Amino acid sequence: MTGKEKAALLLIYTGGTIGMKQDLKEGTLKPFDFSQIAQQVPEIGQFSVDIKTHTFDPLIDSSDVEPSMWQKIATLIRDSYDNYDGFIVLHGTDTMAYSASALSFMLGNLGKPVIFTGSQLPVGVPRTDGKENLISAVEIASAKDSDGRPMVPEVCVYFNSLLMRGNRSVKVNSEEFSAFRSPNLPPLAQAGITIKYNKDIILKAPAPGTPLEVSTELDTRVSILKLHPGITKEVVHHILCGKESRAVIIETYGAGNAPTKPWFIDIVSEAAGMGKILVNVTQCLSGSVDMSIYATGKALQKAGVINGYDSTTESCLAKLFYLMGKTSDNEKVKELMVKNLKGEISIF
Ligand code: ASP
Repeated sequence: MTGKEKAALLLIYTGGTIGMKQDLKEGTLKPFDFSQIAQQVPEIGQFSVDIKTHTFDPLIDSSDVEPSMWQKIATLIRDSYDNYDGFIVLHGTDTMAYSASALSFMLGNLGKPVIFTGSQLPVGVPRTDGKENLISAVEIASAKDSDGRPMVPEVCVYFNSLLMRGNRSVKVNSEEFSAFRSPNLPPLAQAGITIKYNKDIILKAPAPGTPLEVSTELDTRVSILKLHPGITKEVVHHILCGKESRAVIIETYGAGNAPTKPWFIDIVSEAAGMGKILVNVTQCLSGSVDMSIYATGKALQKAGVINGYDSTTESCLAKLFYLMGKTSDNEKVKELMVKNLKGEISIF
């Protein structure tokens, strides 16, 4: 594409608050179709972009998102990849960080922007944040560098002036416009009077002509064990050793610490002995797991728990789904879990 041609974007509308309006009978928010969003945001017509839309049927509140929706989005992007310069996914905020994380792993060799956005207030409400989020997402998804290559060839979340790597983002606020953070990685861009890109940390696009590699096979047999004072043997045993899971994310304290009570370590060892993939992710919003600092972390490491580093729980879950979908060999999954595949963890 030369500088003069219009960028072509595919806007995938899945649902979420951005496109909802009040159902006067029930008093709840319900989704409405995209033509009404477009009417509310005429500003997007001022950019030099051609936007085509794909609307999911049914539109959903993102609390109803299932991995099958990620498969649909990935397939849609694969099937239309060559026809567009970038993709925008309008999505509810509640599970946006999970979906953006999942897509970041499922879309291999991605060379174009995939920007998730949404809003806290519907686009038809006067004080909506949806307009700014959508307008900036359009600008970012169509932005090119001086060589005409996409500025941000990765899966991102754009929200309230911050562009974040999708697999680093977390929803941190249920009522403020500033609803998302990327606690362990600076934003990829910040929108003020201009949009300033943090080029040093944006992932590099694959060599031109490298085909997109889409993985839609996901294995969802993952449980999450959130530690808390007073947690019982029975609960820990049920979650760690239950037959239904192939992997368990253990949300630990601080730098990756857990109780040192013998019964706890015995259950972790029993789960590891069953061949389960056990990953240590911290409950802290920022910072990393380091199991070598305290005896409480070392005991986990000795029992066979692997390091989740500074991964968000959302990203760790999505990475497990993706890797377990690729192989039935748990040792191989463990090997790849501690590698930085898509900028999701910082390993120094
Ligand atoms: N419950 C909504 C959703 O996630 C919230 C939002 O979009 O902000 O779909």
